[in-house]
Amino acid sequence: MSECIFCKIINKEVPATVIDETDDILVIKDIAPKAPVHYLIIPKLHIINIKDLKDTPEHNQLLLNMYKMVRKLSDNLDGSKDFNLMSNNGADAGQIVFHMHWHFLSGKNLFKH
Ligand code: 5GP
Ligand code: ZN
Repeated sequence: MSECIFCKIINKEVPATVIDETDDILVIKDIAPKAPVHYLIIPKLHIINIKDLKDTPEHNQLLLNMYKMVRKLSDNLDGSKDFNLMSNNGADAGQIVFHMHWHFLSGKNLFKH
């Protein structure tokens, strides 16, 4: 996926601020943060979005690992451990980078009622 910006970041062809990295996941800072903490949790596999996930051992393990990464990122927060986790799936939902990623946001109450 040579034209994919997140594949380029994963392959270290484009710089990013890396927060964590495992065999199957990269976590970077969002370039345009919407909260004091705004990370992107990105699978190294080029999956388009959640709609593209299959019920395979590889994808199931990846999902589990992504949730474990979420918990680790929360554990490692300074101060409050509370966070928002969200993802845009498809152009009609505002997705602009078509390589699956979850937004991990903290330090701002995004859904004040
Ligand atoms: P989405 O597809 O979830 O709607 O938006 C993509 C997100 O990726 C946006 O929050 C945007 O700021 C972020 N983003 C886009 N290009 C880059 C980049 O080159 N580097 C980093 N760190 N973030 C990016
Ligand atoms: Zn990609």
